[in-house]
Amino acid sequence: MTRTSGYRQIACRTCLTRYKVLNYISINLTATERWSDGRRVGSLFDNGYGIRACNCKKYYRLSEAIDMGLLTAPEIQEIEADEQGSEVYNIPAFLLRQADHSILDSIKSDSKSFFNKIKSFIFTKNKEVKRTKKVIVQKPLGDEIIEKIPDAIVVRDSEMYEIIRNKEEYSVALVLAARERYRMHQNDKYREPFRNFCNDRSLPIPEYEISMEHHENTQAILDAYLESEKKDWRDIGDLYRELGEFEKALESLNLVIESHDNQSGLERTIRACEMRISNPLLI
Ligand SMILES: [Zn+2]
Repeated sequence: MTRTSGYRQIACRTCLTRYKVLNYISINLTATERWSDGRRVGSLFDNGYGIRACNCKKYYRLSEAIDMGLLTAPEIQEIEADEQGSEVYNIPAFLLRQADHSILDSIKSDSKSFFNKIKSFIFTKNKEVKRTKKVIVQKPLGDEIIEKIPDAIVVRDSEMYEIIRNKEEYSVALVLAARERYRMHQNDKYREPFRNFCNDRSLPIPEYEISMEHHENTQAILDAYLESEKKDWRDIGDLYRELGEFEKALESLNLVIESHDNQSGLERTIRACEMRISNPLLI
């Protein structure tokens, strides 16, 4: 299940404008449709490869922004403290609290602090103790404060070409993520015809023609994957297939170590190579 808890605050490294983003505590990657080029349709989590735009006209990745932490405020409680500022422990109160569960379990699970607390109690007994403040818990900020902080600006796939065109201005990781999204965007027009073909095999296999720009972009992704230390042969094979290099695609796909993870998707991709189909596939 995709679950969130409050918001984090981030800032653009170029102009320091602050934005808020949901704080994800668990992510569900299931989708109603999974495509060979990475497109997920009906996904419960679509983070747009973490790419966001800033008002300063620059793009950034969420992981590259300045992380200013959770949008929370501390709840502070006054406590009695010893000379070192540590909380003075109230042993009689502690013993009373143990009435409903084993005192030994508490000591075992927290032995160090328990004995420190005993020591603190003995040494500060009958002494005057000062009062100090301690953070009890971080609580989410109120809605009225959170609403004043703008959401990080989500960008459309079609804007990815701006990043690719100005790649010198951005990190290698951001340009690669933009190229991956641009690849899916360019492939989008083949999805409906391919869905129709899957539903009615009497239809012709949709014709897949890629422009020079599309070819260059796909080749650049493939080059980056081939240079990567940890090669994903399934993705490499699919990129070769998309470029119409079916022999290299099959060689790469044969290097995929068998796994139970979407084995049928791998078999479908191999079959498409044998049939010399290069358009995106439903896997
Ligand atoms: Zn900015």
